[in-house]
Amino acid sequence: MPLRRDAANLSRIHCELVPFDAALAQSMSDRAVQVVQASAGQELLPRAAAERSSVVCRGGKTSGGWHASCSWQDRCWGDAR
Ligand code: SF4
Repeated sequence: MPLRRDAANLSRIHCELVPFDAALAQSMSDRAVQVVQASAGQELLPRAAAERSSVVCRGGKTSGGWHASCSWQDRCWGDAR
């Protein structure tokens, strides 16, 4: 699907119809609620990576695809934690 990959690489809005998965939808909704509640309580959730040099933070390509550099690195890895 070259069109999908191109749209994702350019950070453009991309819409795609996918089969409905009730369990996945509920799981993602539950995660969103957890993030909102943690934010409201000024709670810091665990980082997605163990090190700032990881691909998800600094950007790069993995077997899972391309990751852009995270814009929140300074805040995430700063002295606030
Ligand atoms: S720097 Fe960004 S991608 Fe890395 S753990 Fe922090 S928020 Fe997640």
